Parts: sequence; structure tokens; C-alpha cells
Amino acid sequence: TMASEPKFLEKGNLSGFLQSYDTFMLDCDGTLWEVDHITAIPGIDKAINMLNGLGKRILFVTNNSVHSNLNYKLKFQNFGFDAPEDHIFGVAYATAVYLKDIAKIDGLIYLVGSPGMASEFSKAGIDYFGFGADPDKASWDPKDLLEMEFRPNVKAVVVGYDEHFHYNKIYKAASYLQDPECMYVASNDVEISFPLAPGRMQPVTGTLVKTVSTAARKEPIVVGKPHPLFLDCVMKKHPEIVKERTVFIGDSLKADIGFANNVGIDSAFVLTGTHNLDHMNSGEFPKPTYVMKSLADILDI
Ligand code: PLP
Ligand code: CA
Repeated sequence: TMASEPKFLEKGNLSGFLQSYDTFMLDCDGTLWEVDHITAIPGIDKAINMLNGLGKRILFVTNNSVHSNLNYKLKFQNFGFDAPEDHIFGVAYATAVYLKDIAKIDGLIYLVGSPGMASEFSKAGIDYFGFGADPDKASWDPKDLLEMEFRPNVKAVVVGYDEHFHYNKIYKAASYLQDPECMYVASNDVEISFPLAPGRMQPVTGTLVKTVSTAARKEPIVVGKPHPLFLDCVMKKHPEIVKERTVFIGDSLKADIGFANNVGIDSAFVLTGTHNLDHMNSGEFPKPTYVMKSLADILDI
């Protein structure tokens, strides 16, 4: 189906669509709420509640590494629907699952990351340091740089969103990564920067990852969409998932539809976020199985 043209979901084929899948993996930003993180997509609460009523397994899969799963649970409640915590996969949590259950890292991790990542790492019993403002003085001087303390046996450097990103952190991350035994992991890489307003560009995780990679001269293992590793992390916790009965729904052709295609599951592209039909038809992005104006359109059934 991936090679054929995307099918528009409408009244006539919605019930077939819904019957085709048991597991609905939903992107968050741009699919449940607008990219402002505040405005709910109209009808989204009813749409999620309808899927729940149909007995569907709904998994929330987001590349935003800022928040913990618990944060998402509370945010969903504010938007009028509920999700069990084990159905939420923020990439902060997924990264912890990767480190603990897949890479099986045993030892210290240098974390360039967010409060959400720190909290998921703590919850998973991961031994990490580096979170928050860097304690060392800023300096260009190699003498000062050489005086900074380095911890032995750092098993991995992990990079996610970090509002305290700093020259010293780049130096430390790049230095730890010179040990060939030290693994390099990024939460996500396709989100580079977000236009906030005319003349205002917010650098996000992809920018920080590229910076560390440039300095270290190494490339990371990436957990986030569109990389298939995210599905491995989800399936570690939900081995009952059947790929043929799973659909991914999201607004980003690159992250979400690319992810679905990379792992070999069907997808539905929604027009409530970053990409539109011109993008879809440009031939420059992965093609979805289905397209719909909004996830709330499933209420038209
Ligand atoms: N990373 C950051 C920092 C974000 O703010 C967002 C969306 O707001 C994302 C990633 C992408 O999140 P999602 O996968 O839910 O679209
Ligand atoms: Ca999105």
C-alpha cells in the first residue's frame, strides 16, 4: 500500500479504516493540539474517547523530550481525555527504556537534557549527572578547560532538549565521547528549530545534537521518530502489538509518516499541524497510507 497514492478518509471508508486496526499510535503536537501546545484540535477529546469506547489500544508517541510521561497524562486530562501511563511514550521515557532495557547500559551517563528526561531517568534507576546549569566557569582558556573535573567510566552521553545548553557541556560531551566504550545517544534529531513568530526561531533538540556531533566528530544512535528504535522501545513494553493491525497518525510527513514507513506500518496524515497537502504532493516527503483533515474527522462515522 505504501507505493500507491494516499486515500482520503471520509464517511464512506471510515468504518473500514477503524475496523482495520487494533492499535492507534498517535503523535501529540500538531495532532492532538496545535503547535502552540495550548489550543486543542476541536473535537479531539471526543475522538479519543470514541477510540477508547471502541476498545482500541491508543498509544501516544511524541518526539518532544522536554516532558515526562506523567506531565503528558496531566496535559491529556486538561484536554478532556485520559490515558494510562503505560500507553504514553514521550521520547524522554523512550530514551530511558532504550538505555535500560535495550542497550542495557550499566553505569554512569552524562546527560545533556531536560527535567522530563532527568525525571524519567531517575524513575528507571539510571545513574546520570550533568543535568541543569553547568557548574564550571565559562572560559576559552585551555588551562581552565583542562582543570575541569571529568568522571571516570562514563558509559554514555545522552543529548535531548536542554535549556541550559552551554559551551562547557559541548566540551564535556565531546570529551567523554572520545572513549570508544562511551555510547552516544540522542532523544531525537529531526526537530531542528521552530518558527515562533516573525523573526523568532527557537532552536530545539536537533540543533543541540548536531552541535555535539560536530564537536565530537561522532554520530548518535537516535531514539525518536522517524528512527525505527522508537518502535523497539514501545514494543519492549507492549510485545502484544501486531504491526499489521497498527496505524500511526501524525502531522509530520518526515517524522511520523517517515516513521510508519520505516517500521512497515500503515499511517494517516492529518492536516492540523506542520505539513499540508502541497508538502504531501511535492514528492519530497514520505507518502502516507491515508490522509484526513483532522483526527477528529473519525467522529463523522
Ligand atoms: N521537540 C520539541 C522540543 C517540541 O516542542 C516538539 C513539539 O512541540 C517536538 C519535539 C515534536 O513533538 P511531536 O512528536 O509530539 O510532534
Ligand atoms: Ca507532531
